[in-house]
Amino acid sequence: MATKYVYLFSEGNANMRELLGGKGANLAEMTNIGLPVPQGFTITTEACTQYYEDGQKINDEIQAQIMEYIVKMEEITGKKFGDLDNPLLVSVRSGARASMPGMMDTILNLGLNEQVVEVMAQKSNNPRWAWDCYRRFIQMYSDVVMEVGKKYFEQLIDQMKEARGVTQDVELTADDLKELAGQFKAEYKSKIGADFPTDPKEQLMGAIKAVFRSWDNPRANVYRRDNDIPYSWGTAVNVQSMAFGNMGDDCGTGVAFTRNPATGEKKLFGEFLTNAQGEDVVAGIRTPMPISEMSEKFPEAFAQFEKVCKILEDHYHDMQDMEFTVENGKLYMLQTRNGKRTPAAALKIACDLVDEGMIDEKQAVAMIDPRTLDTLLHPQFDGEVLKKTPVIGSALAASPGAACGKVVFSAEDAKAWAERGEKVVLVRLETSPEDIEGMKAAQGILTVRGGMTSHAAVVARGMGKCCVSGCGAIKMDEENKQFELSGKTFHEGDWLSIDGSTGKIYDGAIPTVDASIGGEFGRVMGWADQYRRLKVRTNADTPHDAAQARKFGAEGIGLCRTEHMFFDADRIPAIRRMICSDTVEQREAALAVLEPMQQSDFEGIYEAMEGLPVTIRFLDPPLHEFVPTEEADIELLAKDMGKSVAEIKAIIAGLHEFNPMMGHRGCRLAVTYPEIAAMQTRAVIKAALNVQAKHPEWTMVPEIMIPLVGEVKELAYVKKVVVETADAIIKEAGSNMKYLVGTMIEIPRAALTADEIAKQADFFSFGTNDLTQMTFGFSRDDAGKFLDAYYDKKIYENDPFAKLDQTGVGKLVDMACKMGRATNPELHLGVCGEHGGDPSSVEFFHRTGLDYVSCSPFRVPIARLAAAQAAIKDEK
Ligand code: PEP
Ligand code: MG
Repeated sequence: MATKYVYLFSEGNANMRELLGGKGANLAEMTNIGLPVPQGFTITTEACTQYYEDGQKINDEIQAQIMEYIVKMEEITGKKFGDLDNPLLVSVRSGARASMPGMMDTILNLGLNEQVVEVMAQKSNNPRWAWDCYRRFIQMYSDVVMEVGKKYFEQLIDQMKEARGVTQDVELTADDLKELAGQFKAEYKSKIGADFPTDPKEQLMGAIKAVFRSWDNPRANVYRRDNDIPYSWGTAVNVQSMAFGNMGDDCGTGVAFTRNPATGEKKLFGEFLTNAQGEDVVAGIRTPMPISEMSEKFPEAFAQFEKVCKILEDHYHDMQDMEFTVENGKLYMLQTRNGKRTPAAALKIACDLVDEGMIDEKQAVAMIDPRTLDTLLHPQFDGEVLKKTPVIGSALAASPGAACGKVVFSAEDAKAWAERGEKVVLVRLETSPEDIEGMKAAQGILTVRGGMTSHAAVVARGMGKCCVSGCGAIKMDEENKQFELSGKTFHEGDWLSIDGSTGKIYDGAIPTVDASIGGEFGRVMGWADQYRRLKVRTNADTPHDAAQARKFGAEGIGLCRTEHMFFDADRIPAIRRMICSDTVEQREAALAVLEPMQQSDFEGIYEAMEGLPVTIRFLDPPLHEFVPTEEADIELLAKDMGKSVAEIKAIIAGLHEFNPMMGHRGCRLAVTYPEIAAMQTRAVIKAALNVQAKHPEWTMVPEIMIPLVGEVKELAYVKKVVVETADAIIKEAGSNMKYLVGTMIEIPRAALTADEIAKQADFFSFGTNDLTQMTFGFSRDDAGKFLDAYYDKKIYENDPFAKLDQTGVGKLVDMACKMGRATNPELHLGVCGEHGGDPSSVEFFHRTGLDYVSCSPFRVPIARLAAAQAAIKDEK
């Protein structure tokens, strides 16, 4: 049977969302439950995908079906396209499977032409209304279908208002509007080179095409990427007979939510505008009245609307966002959908719905978007000031929260300025481990280069600090402490505001307000914990971050990056001495200085985690990252080591690598310098023994993780060093403490040989940052520069460093799990790459059968909720 591409509203229902889109499915559902819905039909999302497959054409078959349904619609409404007695006018609106408010296009009053408008004006005895509809239609059609641009028409309206000495559109008379319609058509002809179309069917095809095309407009593409909506879904198109809110003072149009979308309060919330049409309410041309006032102006319609609200909430078991029109005092429902809401409102509504008996706890857990949770945990901009402040740039929303401060260009300045009480935003080309203290001192970090797993992004997320990364539009001049963005030069000390939740950059100071977490947060998280199977650990390198993560519900540490402990001012000299040593003895002497420091760090972390599992990863980055770059620091090191500056410089030059990410790092360091692994083992084991002695009630089982393994013999070699060192210390302490030695799976070869590697490993932790980098073969720090072109061309829909590429990288993860467990059934499996805090990736890890995910502290609640949602989905 031929595919059915068009459905009457009476043929669909709420379960047909995939095919009819959210709006179409809900219009059908409202029709089914007997609500007053102007009738029409929905062209399916499959027609949209077919339109793209056919090279952006509506093929003959689909056109024929649309024509057939126009006839059906004419029969149902008793009106006809282009008819002079009883003309049919329609709205044409988009409606994707997931709602994308304001992202796609709408056309109202379609079906009008010069004759129809004249007849409508006469018959209705309301010429003002008729001409208002017509000029609106020409305006929208020209803008949306022919892409002429709104501004020309707005200018003409402004000129007309000025000429008539009025300020509001509603003050223009029928003759004014008629004249405007003429001017609009002339404008259309001058821009397009043809007359404005008069045949309603031709108008309709143009409008449908425009809505399909709007699925691919830039703002829709960005919205989809931010909201995990696949491009392949397409949008449906709804053709609905018009209800007129602009026929006079007993008419109007409104939008309303059944509960307050900002706070969640259970009270009708919305706005209404008399004598107006749809877009006027949102366009802000006139100030609408609060919905409560509607009860005075339209008591009957309002009473009916209140009933409809109750019916819809009871029906959908969720807060509804509705559009409606009152035509000559009669109510028409144009749309309903589950309303968008702030994260705080989402939690309150979920809890209230449970308390009202509308939904159960599982449904409450399932209805909250985990990605929105972390905005609850970070400071936000003051909404009023934000609205008035221009956006001057945007880049990757690398770590959420809002930051406002004076621009500084170096980590040292950030620290120094912060110490004297200034709030600063650290702006860098990119950050490096040396910048840690400056990053800590800053309110937020803005970088020119770097993606979602760049140093700045990873470290900022770990700290819960706002970060916007990869703003290539900045012209940076670090040397002169200035940069240029959006035509303005910013100097040190200028105010800048950045939003790490949206990636937006603002000129000037926007005050921030602290996050406040209500009791509902804990309640919903408590429910989530009952349903999830995956454990949630955290990536933390300091006792402070570990304690923070515990508060957010972390059940252990999945990744402690030990190198982050080496950059403190009092440690870096020792690590530099270690790197520049000529002999094993010299190196061991330098390591001996570091050992107690590492040990006390580990003790602090163990204490903070209160006996929960802690995975400590051995030194990972290439050594050149630790050596000095400033002349003064080089001189200091030379003096410290009794070497000449030239000798130190020669050592540093010797460490240079063309591709450090694939160079002398990870377990390769331990293979060349086993004494580093031995020192780190001593620090881990001694710390665990000490903490165990202090807390006999805990069972300490330290977990040592070897990074960047690609060959089982590499792991076996380093493991031997670990085991010999650890066993000797444990024996000497007279203890029987167990410990685990595992590895990261972050090199494709490790995944491919996971069966062998598993024989030597107690656990695998997937390092999906490096695994993504090496599977795709592009750098996690540089990919941001060209990924935009890939999104534009639909080669990739998402940043694979933020959202796991389940097809490729995921296949390696899945394969390594199966192969690893086949040779080592006891193998414990987790993930510690940034994907561990991304909801869709968490769902994948659940399905793949991992034991835990590990993510930065502020993402722990997200992962807990996402893990619960994955488990609930799995049950179905
Ligand atoms: C990884 O590669 O996924 C990982 C967690 O390690 P890092 O980010 O420190 O390289
Ligand atoms: Mg790694």
